[in-house]
Amino acid sequence: MRQTVLKWRTTCLQWRTLMNEKSAAEALLAEMYSRAKAQFGSAVKAYWFYASEVCPGCQRPVDTWRHKNREALSLNAFIYRERGVLIGYLLCERCARDIFRAAKKHPYQQTPLHTTIEQNLIAAYQHHMASLDA
Ligand SMILES: [Zn+2]
Repeated sequence: MRQTVLKWRTTCLQWRTLMNEKSAAEALLAEMYSRAKAQFGSAVKAYWFYASEVCPGCQRPVDTWRHKNREALSLNAFIYRERGVLIGYLLCERCARDIFRAAKKHPYQQTPLHTTIEQNLIAAYQHHMASLDA
């Protein structure tokens, strides 16, 4: 019983940390948006944060991971060109490391994982916009 309570409390703490980091991620996304707007002008009209608990790369839960001895979330963004939307998203540790490794080997090259992530984000964005119309 005691063990269960302790375990539950740890989970809550992790959850709270994750939620704090998510607000930080949203603030960071706003910053990325103003930079993208400066760089791409009217090609970027809006931004949207994919605030899901599920990684768009592999459908596993998003979690914090250790990077240079600190807890970190991997905030990424891509421009959905057809709609001019900068979409910010978080990845799980595994996908974040895969992307990081691929970027080191072949900078600026699209990987199959990127394609999966972008397809899932576009679907989620379209679903989100459709739910606003309803
Ligand atoms: Zn993942």
